[in-house]
Amino acid sequence: MSFEISQRDVLGRIGTFETKSGKLETPALLPVVNPLAQEISPHVMFERLGCKALITNAYLIRRRAGNAEVTNIHDFLDFPGVIATDSGAYQILRYGEVEISPLEVIQYKESVGTDIGVILDLPTGSRASKAHATDTVKETIKRADEAQKAITRRDIAWVGPIQGGTYPDIVAHSAREMAKRGFDIYALGSPTEVMEQYLFADLADMIFAAKMNLPSSAPFHLFGAGHPFMLAFAVALGCDLFDSAAYILYARRGRYLTSGGTMHLTQMEYFPCRCSLCARRTPNEVRSLPLLERTQFLAEHNLSACLQEIETIKESIVEGRLWELVEARCRSHPSLLEGLRRISEHKSHVICGAPSTKRKGIFFFDSTSLQRPEYVMYLERLVRDYERPKAATAVLLMPATRQSPKDKASMRMELTNVDRGAHVCLYSPPYGLVPSELADTFPFMHTEIPGEPDPETIKAMAETVRIYLANNIAYRSLVVIHSNKHWQTRFARFCGNICRGMGLGFSCHSDHKLPNPPIEELGNHRKHPNKAVSKKLIRKKS
Ligand SMILES: [Zn+2]
Repeated sequence: MSFEISQRDVLGRIGTFETKSGKLETPALLPVVNPLAQEISPHVMFERLGCKALITNAYLIRRRAGNAEVTNIHDFLDFPGVIATDSGAYQILRYGEVEISPLEVIQYKESVGTDIGVILDLPTGSRASKAHATDTVKETIKRADEAQKAITRRDIAWVGPIQGGTYPDIVAHSAREMAKRGFDIYALGSPTEVMEQYLFADLADMIFAAKMNLPSSAPFHLFGAGHPFMLAFAVALGCDLFDSAAYILYARRGRYLTSGGTMHLTQMEYFPCRCSLCARRTPNEVRSLPLLERTQFLAEHNLSACLQEIETIKESIVEGRLWELVEARCRSHPSLLEGLRRISEHKSHVICGAPSTKRKGIFFFDSTSLQRPEYVMYLERLVRDYERPKAATAVLLMPATRQSPKDKASMRMELTNVDRGAHVCLYSPPYGLVPSELADTFPFMHTEIPGEPDPETIKAMAETVRIYLANNIAYRSLVVIHSNKHWQTRFARFCGNICRGMGLGFSCHSDHKLPNPPIEELGNHRKHPNKAVSKKLIRKKS
């Protein structure tokens, strides 16, 4: 099965997956359709909502309809788009077992002509002990081997489920074993309960544990994720496919889904949506509808909100603004923000997968933006790849100004003349140190920032200076130029503390005296351990 990726941003991607019923563009959300009872028919989903794919439960169809009655699942559901079939894992989680064997699942899916088929796995669940999680992975791998032997139709895309619950090491093992078996799609099982409890940091760990051990050339499906407010987060972590019954389950409880969270119909005065339904009615009118009609209204709006969010996400990938969208969405619930911050523990994976440059600049809001891949890559390159000028023994660190390039060049020349040993570097939030020769490169000159960075960002900038100096022990002193802006004086103070801790010379100077700096002061490091270096910084009085 071919999966072509056309656009990327963060770890999200826009791709096209070939199925026997046509192309499926990802990211995609497949609504869960109960084969026997539907508030919105699959036909309406396809025609009115533009829904190109759905997922249904093969186990329920077989149990209620029997083998002989369904020969073509597209006709049975009256849906011409892509149909995926789950196998009964949810029923196992809920009732303990299903009355169908792993081999029968394969045979049945092949006989009804599903486009995408999930093999029968044994879900771990989120409250399982480690021993039980290990057992479910072992059993799922055994079933995967049996399934591979039983599969006769290669025009169906087969899904290999990853189990292991909330134990990242077991999830990683499960993913490695599934990857060896060469499935067309990989899916992370058991996250539904984790998401219901809003444990998005744990969810991030589970997703990274799986993704790091799977081929990036195959789509990655996150089972049970279907609330619009968390889809951008999941796409940014590399999830391509989603399936969910959230649209109908929430509707039955009178809940109205938005990309900012869940609202209660009973408490609403306005609809924050202009879909074809919401534009025609007020919450008050919907409240007065009979129960079934009210549920249908909410279900259709909820599904529409999910599909709308997928389009918003895709456009943000095209625009190179997925991270900005994720930051905005993560402000809708503290747990989601916690999930976003967990990315800092998976930096190496983020660096490997995200694009290293962009056509557009990036927006930096506050310390949450310190997790964004472009910033993490800048740090990595500064520490791992950058080679300082051989003759440099001191760092002259000055704020990047918004003056014209000509002004900056003359100021830089003035400062460079201080001493041949002074290496001119710039700082501007969130970048604590950028060698001046790299000042025009991405992302340094392409970052929009607020006027005053938050305290955590200033600390992170100073930490960059510390790491840089620790990695380049030939520097013996640091000179920081700053304006009278509060954050710059604070940054200079942090840098001073760092130098004292490392036994390096330090001085700082207000920039209103530039471009004619008091040269003697710049090199006045009385406490400097290496007098020879100090001398080099002092230009002779003329
Ligand atoms: Zn609506």
